[in-house]
Amino acid sequence: MIVMKFGGTSVGDAESIAQATQIVRGAVTGESDRLGGMGQAFESPQPVVVVVSAMSGVTDSLVKAATSAANRDGQTFRQAKESLLDRHGAVIEAIVGDGEARSALLGEIETLLREFESLCQSIYILGELTARGLDAVSSLGERLLVRVFAVTLRSVGVEANPLEATTLIVTDDNYGGATPLMDETRAKVQANLVPLLAEGITPVVTGFIGATPSGIVTTLGRGGSDYTAAILGNCLDSREIWIWTDVDGIMTANPRVVPGARTLPEISYAEAAELSYFGAKVLYSKTILPALEKDIPIRIVNTFNPDHPGTLVVAEAEPTGKAVKAITAIKRLSLITVEGRGMIGVPGIAAKVFSAVAREGISVLMISQSSSEQSICFVVQQETNGRALRALENEFELELARRNIDRIWAQGDVAIVAVVGAGMKGTPGIGAKVFGALGRNAINVISVAQGSSEYNISLVVDEKDVDDAVRYIHQEFELGG
Ligand code: ADP
Ligand code: ASP
Ligand code: MG
Repeated sequence: MIVMKFGGTSVGDAESIAQATQIVRGAVTGESDRLGGMGQAFESPQPVVVVVSAMSGVTDSLVKAATSAANRDGQTFRQAKESLLDRHGAVIEAIVGDGEARSALLGEIETLLREFESLCQSIYILGELTARGLDAVSSLGERLLVRVFAVTLRSVGVEANPLEATTLIVTDDNYGGATPLMDETRAKVQANLVPLLAEGITPVVTGFIGATPSGIVTTLGRGGSDYTAAILGNCLDSREIWIWTDVDGIMTANPRVVPGARTLPEISYAEAAELSYFGAKVLYSKTILPALEKDIPIRIVNTFNPDHPGTLVVAEAEPTGKAVKAITAIKRLSLITVEGRGMIGVPGIAAKVFSAVAREGISVLMISQSSSEQSICFVVQQETNGRALRALENEFELELARRNIDRIWAQGDVAIVAVVGAGMKGTPGIGAKVFGALGRNAINVISVAQGSSEYNISLVVDEKDVDDAVRYIHQEFELGG
């Protein structure tokens, strides 16, 4: 059995959805001729669990609708409702023949969109948007699309049923970034999904969402449909997890930034974890753990180029002879610095810094401390920077008054560039090459950290320099084709 997840662009319009359903059909029927080289993996019929994202751009528009409603804008969510109806309606019209199936499906879409409108209307009246309310709205994109996808599969002869992951994935109540409770999830998957497979039905499951034990909708974090696929793969002991997206696998850099980037045929879970954590959006970082736990390979493949073998993520990757495998970047960050000569030799400052930030629920992407102990720097998402500064100012009120700490400040508009590869461990001279490439091209490095795994070196640069920095380092290590 294989879990196959289709991302937003892979289900972005009628044509893409048709292509995605042909891929599923190829696997389920074992008719590999439709898939060229990729079809070799489907020599015999394979049961498939399908996971789908929302159509591309839909989750963004849902989030925008909810936040604008909270700001007393009564227009945006109504416009969003119309355009969601148009987009899904256009797909249904193109794919589902006139008749009962079409009107039943349109009816379901309209019901969900009415739910969307009443949620936004309540947010508008209250003038307040809670994290729980936002999840109720942002989960609707996947809930809309599973229905359309399942009907499309049926139209090409695959018995398929839509399934909301709220009946499968049980999570904590950390809205916006919920964590699955695996034992409870496994039990629900056994009860609600396995019987469908046993009947030869292909389940089409909403990516991105789950529910608390009491049934309140949660989301797993933006980009989290990949995670859904891995959670289900883990619970079902699937043979592989396939992530169908819009590029030929995980590449040496984001191909939109570095046109010469090449596909990495095979990488390890550890490398994939570093790459996705440091900005390779092609795979959501939390996806790795459920797969690694059960040693399930993850294949990243291109819906629009299914003959390409893509990338295989496994426990031990074939050595490539290259120390550095890929360069990634994360934008829209802030670098926060706590500095003061009075900090030298005072134990516990770092602990206080990070517990103050953690109490605010802010995650820290990278840390560096100079050996003189005169400053501690760390990187956070730009939008959390105000809260981080306030938390630190409260925490260190006394130290600031006594001038043990001179200054707590943030530098905005920075980015992290990460140089990643398992072969970097113990290979001398990598740092020198990275800094040489940037120095020769007059790119200023603001701060540096090396992960303890030695699988990555990460640098903070000005956001305006980040794309160039990625290109120069990519070139320096001759990663391009
Ligand atoms: P999906 O909607 O299928 O989940 P995403 O947009 O989340 O797709 O991820 C795919 C995108 O990730 C690609 O279009 C590409 O621009 C971006 N990306 C960033 N870094 C990399 C990388 N190293 N290799 C491949 N793609 C990358
Ligand atoms: N639709 C969700 C998002 O846009 C989840 C995903 O695409 O993986 O974040
Ligand atoms: Mg994605």
